[in-house]
Amino acid sequence: PLPSELFAPERLNSAGIDLSDPLVRAPLMVRLTALEAKHPIAAPIIGGKTLKGSKVPVTAPFDRSITVGHVVEATPEAVAQAVTLAHDAQPDWDAAGVDVRADALEAAANLYEKHTDELLSLCVREAGKTVPDAILELREAVDFLRYYAVEARRQFGPADPLPGPTGESNTLTLHGRGVIAAISPWNFPLAIFTGQIAAALAAGNSVVAKPAGQTPLIAARAVELLHQAGIPGDVLNLLPGDGKVGAALVAHPGIGGVVFTGSTNTARSINLTLAQRTGPIVPLIAETGGQNAMIVDSSALSEQVTRDVVQSAFQSAGQRCSALRVLYLQDDIADGVLEMISGAMRALTIGDPRKLSTDVGPVIDAAARASLQKHSNELSGAVVCRLDLPVGQGNFVAPAAFSIPAISALSQEHFGPLLHVVRFAAENLDAVIDAINATGFGLTLGVHSRIDTTIERIVARARVGNIYVNRNQIGAVVGSQPFGGEGLSGTGPKAGGPHYLARFATERTLCVDT
Ligand code: GLU
Repeated sequence: PLPSELFAPERLNSAGIDLSDPLVRAPLMVRLTALEAKHPIAAPIIGGKTLKGSKVPVTAPFDRSITVGHVVEATPEAVAQAVTLAHDAQPDWDAAGVDVRADALEAAANLYEKHTDELLSLCVREAGKTVPDAILELREAVDFLRYYAVEARRQFGPADPLPGPTGESNTLTLHGRGVIAAISPWNFPLAIFTGQIAAALAAGNSVVAKPAGQTPLIAARAVELLHQAGIPGDVLNLLPGDGKVGAALVAHPGIGGVVFTGSTNTARSINLTLAQRTGPIVPLIAETGGQNAMIVDSSALSEQVTRDVVQSAFQSAGQRCSALRVLYLQDDIADGVLEMISGAMRALTIGDPRKLSTDVGPVIDAAARASLQKHSNELSGAVVCRLDLPVGQGNFVAPAAFSIPAISALSQEHFGPLLHVVRFAAENLDAVIDAINATGFGLTLGVHSRIDTTIERIVARARVGNIYVNRNQIGAVVGSQPFGGEGLSGTGPKAGGPHYLARFATERTLCVDT
């Protein structure tokens, strides 16, 4: 028989919004348009108080002439103040017990869902996400809140007695480490921002959160909702700003750990700072980049491959750590599959993410656009398919596919809608996997094959965190596909998985001679 919890789960993933229903879709779009009139301000929130200061505009990635809102960036004094307050507040938050903490996270999940329109609007306008992407992002944020609440109750509840000789009682309990510095990326400005904070809080830590410089507005709104849900003001603090704010935060001797999602280089510099500063030795939980491949053999179904390649490479304008960068096609089928992929690419609509007809929105900023554009120009001689761009003042990059000889031809991750294609001969399959492993990254890998032994061979040899067989390789679901890589792709543990919370905790053993 199946375990009863399958029928009565403690937690269900968020249902999201059914955009295929016109009675849902049309009113949603009207409400989102109305919300464009709102221009919020994000400022440091310390001890529940919002600081004042000079305001810098936050512009829309799809049209730089649109000001979405304003940000007041944190000063070095604000960093010190936030860490000190959070440090003093943490013991009480830990002692309050797991039920208090989990209840607050579950209340926050409900509040996020209640404020769906507002959060979607900010995600679209500030991060340039398409509406369907924004809906997925909100669902993931809600799922993180509920998942870590349930996991915390399971792992941080009353201690079970451990074995020992008669006359001795032994227990092991988990506690917060102190202040967690949560440094999050712009590509999931709500989901990853919330996931880091929810995990740290669930485990009994206080938090100082530093959202990406490009996406402070949705972060500030999320913090307000988390406070409203019962997280005390001094337990969760927000410091908007650029990399200098993050660097000052990490260097502060008062923090007890860092959770970071972003580039491999930034993770290295955080490690260096942590090693050199005074104060306790603390962990870094880092989720970084990838050079993600998909291997397609000649037994694969071309239609499925086409759909999954286009989604994996171009959804979210390729701005997911999980996105497909290098497609390995077995040479016997390569021409036919590439023709189908090019056809599917030509059907993509690039443009304003506020329109439901848009498939591919902008990249995050002018710097990202310039670097992707440069790479695309350098590969002009090897274009398989390159789309045209909309005119206007947006940070758009033409989705494109290029032929390259091998994954080793790429010296870095290109974080956008650019796909590289390599042909391989069947007898070289092991060498292909070895070449992918040799990049040092290990985040996602896609496999398309209908031969079980081929799939097993790839799975056994690949050194990556998330392998997806006969489907796309993006959109890990909380609780079902714990997400995170190895090697240059991150330290683990996996977000949305059962081992995540323990890394935010310290263990205490109590032995009493009775
Ligand atoms: N979890 C996301 C996915 O599976 C990617 C997260 C990221 O880009 O950092 O697509």
